[in-house]
Amino acid sequence: MADDVAIDTMLERLGFGHPEARGPARAALEEAGLTHAGKQRIHRAKEVSCEETLRGRYAVSCGRSGCVAALAGDSRPRLPPSGPSDCEVCRGSDNRAATAELLQALAGRGVRKVVVVGGSPAAREEIQRLLAPAGLKLRLVDGTARRTGDQARGDLAWADLVVVWGGTELDHKVSTLYTDGRPRHVVSASRRGIAAVADAVLRHLAGGSARLPRGGRGA
Ligand SMILES: [Zn+2]
Repeated sequence: MADDVAIDTMLERLGFGHPEARGPARAALEEAGLTHAGKQRIHRAKEVSCEETLRGRYAVSCGRSGCVAALAGDSRPRLPPSGPSDCEVCRGSDNRAATAELLQALAGRGVRKVVVVGGSPAAREEIQRLLAPAGLKLRLVDGTARRTGDQARGDLAWADLVVVWGGTELDHKVSTLYTDGRPRHVVSASRRGIAAVADAVLRHLAGGSARLPRGGRGA
């Protein structure tokens, strides 16, 4: 294997290969002294330093609303990605983009404690994996197991937001414990997939009917 690599090839690999990104990325590397004007190739050993320099200098975003929102507080200028998987927020994943948008919306409303009722075990696991690292406190309720009225009331009192996730693995007997009386902080999502949950919650928050979190709940 050659000790050096074409700079353009390296930029492509690092996610800075978009025609609009290449120039600024190259300039940043020259500024950092990692290469010089006119050079076509670079030593492979410099690739790690190049990546650090570029990531510190620019944010690579696909421009989807969730990804834009996730970078709202980030002062780095944006560059378009080489390919969808180069977006540093979503890595090309619809679920991650939807999650990013959801997390922004929840943070904006001060929502920290979320109960999700229903969904398959795998879907609940995914919710846990995507949302828990962002600092949300989660209670994931198996929609097919017995739940008492007291437990449901406890969940409703604890949560800033309750998502009743129909469409899969949710018994009517369980869901009505949460939806009876239409508490204002309860959202129903009727389709599978975390993107559907994000969509339902975003609509709910945008509707302004919920004065979330504390103090604004229905009776
Ligand atoms: Zn993205």
